[in-house]
Amino acid sequence: MESLQDLVAEARGCTRCPLHKAATQTVFGEGPADAAIVFVGEQPGDQEDRQGRPFVGPAGRIFDQALAEAGIPRDRVYITNAVKHFKFAPRGKHRLHKRPNAGEIDRCRWWLDRELAMIRPRLTVALGATAARSLAGRPLAIGKTRGRLLDLAPDLPGLVTVHPSSLLRVPDPDAKRLAYAAFVKDLAVAADALTLEG
Ligand code: SF4
Repeated sequence: MESLQDLVAEARGCTRCPLHKAATQTVFGEGPADAAIVFVGEQPGDQEDRQGRPFVGPAGRIFDQALAEAGIPRDRVYITNAVKHFKFAPRGKHRLHKRPNAGEIDRCRWWLDRELAMIRPRLTVALGATAARSLAGRPLAIGKTRGRLLDLAPDLPGLVTVHPSSLLRVPDPDAKRLAYAAFVKDLAVAADALTLEG
């Protein structure tokens, strides 16, 4: 029977869309195969692309902090991305994040579907618009849907919230604090739904 490790190995050679050409490596999801919650982000960032692991950059650090505050043990959840290769535009020494397009999201859904089919989480949380688009198969307005339990698709109970990287881009400190608190509150809805604490 296929395991998550088999999927990881298979995905290393994926050429289903052009994003594999410029990126360093496939960045697959991480977490236990019996995770109660699967969190889905957008795509690996610069640090994730180099290290080959999801959510290890600045957004990952704020996500870890928010998970802890919401009472969600990170080792009980599976964390992945809608798109498994880093999409960027070179600017001198830097690589600037570029949002994946609908075609790339749809091509990479192949892997996300297989992760979800294997893990069968009780709840799937979309972090941001790209993840919501991937899971729902259509664009969802984050502002209108965030923070409440809903069916992302038939047989896919979940919740939508912002991507933690959006918190890093809020310039005003007070607004940043409020945005972070709203994010933790959304995560707490997921925690309450599953009573994961303890
Ligand atoms: S982004 Fe996804 S579909 Fe495209 S090459 Fe990478 S793993 Fe394959």
